[in-house]
This record gives sequence, structure tokens and C-alpha cells, in this order.
Amino acid sequence: MFEEITNAVVETTASCNLNCRHCGSNCVKNTKANELTAKEWLLVFDQLRGLGLKQLTLSGGETTIKDDFPQLLDGLQEKNIGFALITNGLTMTDNLAKRLKDAGARTLGVSVDGNSAIHNYIRGNNRSWLMALNAIATAKAAGLRVAAITTVSRLNYAILPELAKLLHKVGASGWQVQLVSPIGRAKDNSELAIDEKIFREICLALIKLRNIYQSCLDIRAADCFGYDCTLLRGPGWPGCTAGKQTIGIDACGNVLPCLSLMDERFILGNIRQKTLKEIWRQDNGIMRLFRDDKICQAAGICKNCQKYSWCQGGCKSMALAHFDKFGQAPFCCIRSLFN
Ligand code: SF4
Ligand code: SF4
Ligand code: SF4
Repeated sequence: MFEEITNAVVETTASCNLNCRHCGSNCVKNTKANELTAKEWLLVFDQLRGLGLKQLTLSGGETTIKDDFPQLLDGLQEKNIGFALITNGLTMTDNLAKRLKDAGARTLGVSVDGNSAIHNYIRGNNRSWLMALNAIATAKAAGLRVAAITTVSRLNYAILPELAKLLHKVGASGWQVQLVSPIGRAKDNSELAIDEKIFREICLALIKLRNIYQSCLDIRAADCFGYDCTLLRGPGWPGCTAGKQTIGIDACGNVLPCLSLMDERFILGNIRQKTLKEIWRQDNGIMRLFRDDKICQAAGICKNCQKYSWCQGGCKSMALAHFDKFGQAPFCCIRSLFN
């Protein structure tokens, strides 16, 4: 049981060329001391492959500004490891898009948070919106599949229809919508916070947009929306897979059940000290917290929910960000739409 890691999201660097108001990882320009090198990451990827890896996502920070990013791409290509990469788009050029394609990028995720005014305000950079749209078009021209990623907050939830139209026009084929979470810098920016009423409006807007764009833009609500709502994301959400099939690894090699759970309490070990297999197969209190569905008691809106035994209160990262414990969801699409 839980022998395989099928989904890994890795923070290749914590360094970023933006300083966004909603950044959950508090990323800044200067790289953390002691980050894993490309050579070390490639050894980690070998281990992941040995443990059953199917989906590798390179995240940050901004991966493309990592000092030895070219070596990372060379290694991925040599090893024939397909990957998805998330970027804010600032560094995209024709050459980089072609290099990503040759190296085996399956999908490029580009962050777009609104129209020009809203995106640039959130991202704190007046050129960032144009650069993001340019990145989508450039990557598409190079033959990459491009999905936009939007962090939806109080500042942009009302323009989701405008955004769908824009993303379709610039050539995105997918659109992942995720909720702002009160962690990192977003915690100190209360102007971003959503409430139950806004959450419901977001759900209704996404259902409508999924219908309108069903043949040309694959719109999906992210894990943070919680319980499997087919109307919002299509069928097949397996519940929270953190520590079951999913792991995250931070820029310094700390292994977490999910990269969204960046919290010292949940560090399972460090890749420089133990093998991934040793870390993954250990049976300790942290692992059991994620693997034993009987441990977390239902609370809050999940308390008497009949779906709890399967759903477990939705996304553990959202629960932690809002309540500092698991077993309850801040928002639930099923309750919001059907109760
Ligand atoms: S949200 Fe993304 S682009 Fe913005 S500072 Fe954080 S890592 Fe960088
Ligand atoms: S109320 Fe909680 S347990 Fe029930 S479906 Fe919603 S998120 Fe899941
Ligand atoms: S914590 Fe949230 S984002 Fe991470 S695997 Fe669970 S549902 Fe997905």
C-alpha cells in the first residue's frame, strides 16, 4: 500500500523575479542558501522514476531563472523524463520555448491573474501581464501545450468570464483555477481574501464557463476546491493524495506530503540525508496522519457530512491554511451549490 509516488511537484528554486501579493511561498529574488543543484535534482528524478513517477511538475519560485536551469533541461532530455513546468512567463523567448519542447515539456503552466490592471497590481510589475500573454503565444507557437493558471481572489473573481475569453483568444488550451489561500504573503493581504458568498459565485461562474468553452478550453477547478465536483473539474478526483501518491520537495531537498503543505511540522526527511524510498516507506506519525483516514476527526462544516469518510474535508493544504488543522474545509462546492 502506498508503494508508489505517482505525482511529484518540486520547488526547483525558491528564487523568483516577481514579488506577487498572493505568493504562498513568500518567494523573493535571492535564492535560499543551499538549494539543490540541477545535478542533485536529476538524481532525485531517477529515484522518483524508480518509485513509479507518472507526473513531474517543476515549480518555484521561477524555475527558469535557476542558475543551472540549462543543465536541468539537458538532464531531463537525456533521461527522457517528461515534465510540466510552471512559470510567470517573464523569461519566455522563442529559444526557451523550443528548448523546453525539445527537453520533454508536456505542459507549460503560465500564471495569469486578470486583465492588465489587476494582474500587474497583484504581481507588482507593470510588464508582467503582457509577458505572461506573450509566453502563452510563444510556447504555443513552439508546439507546447499551454495551460493558464489563475489564483482567484476578491480582486479578480468578478472578471472570470473576461479572463476565459482572453485566455482562449491567446491560445491557452487549459485553464486551472485555484483559490487564494491565506499563507505566505497572501496572509497579510486581506484585500485578497474570499468568503462563502464569493466562493459560491466563483463556482457558478466556472460551471457556466466550462459549458461555454467545453470544446476549446479545458477549464478545471484545482484540488483546493475540495470534494469531487464533476461540474467544476470533470470526474475522477481521488480525494487528497498528499503522502499517498503525491509528494512535494522544496528547494533545499525537504520532502513533504504535498508542496502546498510547506510547513516544518510535515517535513518527512531530507533527500540529502536519506533515499526517497526510505523517506516514503517510513511509518511514523506524520505519514500516518496522511495515510490513515481514521485519524483526522471531522470538524466545522464537515462535521456531520455523509461524504466525510471518503472526502476527509477536502484539500489538507486549505484546511491547514484556514484552521491550522485537518478534517474540515473552509469552503465546500457541494454544500455551496446544493445545500
Ligand atoms: S506567486 Fe509565483 S511568480 Fe509570484 S512571487 Fe510567488 S513564485 Fe514568483
Ligand atoms: S462538507 Fe467537508 S467532508 Fe463533506 S463534502 Fe464538503 S468538504 Fe467534503
Ligand atoms: S493537500 Fe490539497 S493540493 Fe495537496 S494533494 Fe491534497 S488536495 Fe491536492
